[in-house]
Order: sequence, then structure tokens, then C-alpha cells
Amino acid sequence: MTDEPLKRFIPVTSISSGTIESVVPDVFSYTNQVVNLFFVKVNPSSSEWVLVDAGMPRSGDEIMKAARDLFGENTCPKAIVLTHGHFDHVGGLGDLLSEWDVPVYAHALELPFLTGVQNYPEPDPTVEGGMVAKMSKMFPNQAIDLSGKVQMVPENGHVPELPDWKWIHTPGHSPGHISLFRVADRTLIAGDAFVTVRQDELYKVLTQKKEITGPPRYLTTDWKAAKQSVKTLAELEPETAVTGHGMPVFGEELKAGLKDLAAQFDQIAVPSHGKYVDGDKH
Ligand SMILES: [Zn+2]
Ligand SMILES: [Zn+2]
Repeated sequence: MTDEPLKRFIPVTSISSGTIESVVPDVFSYTNQVVNLFFVKVNPSSSEWVLVDAGMPRSGDEIMKAARDLFGENTCPKAIVLTHGHFDHVGGLGDLLSEWDVPVYAHALELPFLTGVQNYPEPDPTVEGGMVAKMSKMFPNQAIDLSGKVQMVPENGHVPELPDWKWIHTPGHSPGHISLFRVADRTLIAGDAFVTVRQDELYKVLTQKKEITGPPRYLTTDWKAAKQSVKTLAELEPETAVTGHGMPVFGEELKAGLKDLAAQFDQIAVPSHGKYVDGDKH
């Protein structure tokens, strides 16, 4: 296994970094620098849990500490599920997997980037947006190699170890991006299919100013698919949503924001120029 591309600390942060929030009683959102990851209990009364996403490069120790704070010493997840394989969602995996001998799951279309077969396209620092978009050229896009550890999520939509959840293919931001949804209380873990902060703009990232918006622009390569994915998620009418970046959103604010984003995706989400945007908007 190698996570060599992810050894370098990336100096970006937000006011939320280091905080744990109980979003619904059995889902905890943890903010590591500028990205969120999630501790999801197998059921509300269980001490067993699954980790969803794995933070920024060099975050392994911090994630393990947060897990101990929540679940006690020597805790270990049943599995790790990845919404997608970008550097800011898999950064802690190398260290985590040397402590925790657990399976990692991702969508089949994401596996080439997680098994050393294919690099992600390079981030687009020219995409309009602020400082973070410009900084994105320092973001690693190289594949990591988790061969032997990572496997695909079951095709039937079940989420391993989380019987009340299902996964939904929400490509666009990356080819094998998935979101996790629990019908019972309409809780959604949307990864980067949409986010609740303008991730491209440094000031808004720093202050975590809440705004339901499209996927981070500098890494999104298929805007047509991204738009369809937001529609799919809006149709679920979630009550609670957590995303890869930004604060949790609830109730009417969520439903209205997601509906607007789906209806005006081209205006709100799609940059007017950039490497991965073709001339006419979809
Ligand atoms: Zn991403
Ligand atoms: Zn992200």
C-alpha cells in the first residue's frame, strides 16, 4: 500500500477545524481543517460505527483521537466508506489503516484512483473562484494504492455494516462519487456532490459561511453529471444533510436551498470558464 502522494501537510484551515458535531443522534460530523468526515453508528444504541471519508493528508492521528473521544480507548470502526477518493477525503487513510485492519469501500468507478491505476485529472487553478481555487495547484491528484484493502460497495445499494443506509451514485465531481442516504429520518451524507460553503473562496472557507452550492469547482470534471446528481439528491427531499465541506443543513433551509441549486445549477454551480467547462453550459 502506498499513500506517498499524501504525505505533505496542506496549510488551509477553517474556524470549525477540530470540532465534532452530533448532527443526528447517531451521526457525528468532524471537521479536519477544511473537510468533514463522519462517524456513523451502526444503530443508535450501538458502540459499533463506520467511518465515512478520511480527511486531509496527515490527519490520521487527529481522526483516531476524535474516534477515541467519541467511542473510547482502543475503538476501531467496522469499515471505512469513501464518498470519493480525492486527496482531502482519503488523506488520513495510510495512518488509519496501519492501526485499523478494516475494509475500505468505494464505488467501482473510483477504484482506479485508489489502487494506483489512474491519477485524477489535475485541479484547475484557472477556474473562476477565489484563493482556494488558485491554491488548488498544490493539491495532490495522484492515485494512492490501497490494493488489497479497498473493494467496491455492493451493487445492490447496501452500505456495508450500515443496514439502514443505502448508497446512491452521484457522479460529476468524480466518476465514482457516492452519497449515503437513510430513508427512516431522511439523513443524507452528500460528500462533494454539493457542499454548504463556497469552497473556492478562502474567506468563506475560513469562516464557513453557509450557502448551499455546487461541488468544489477546481476538481469537478463533469458538470453535466454533477447537475443530474444534484437533481437526484434534491428529489430525495432530505431533512438533514452533511457535506464534505461546510456546515450541516436542516429542514426548510436544506430543501429550499437544494431545490434552488437543482433549478439554477448552471448559474449557481457551473463556472463560466475553466478547463473542464465547455463553451455552452449544459
Ligand atoms: Zn472532492
Ligand atoms: Zn472535498
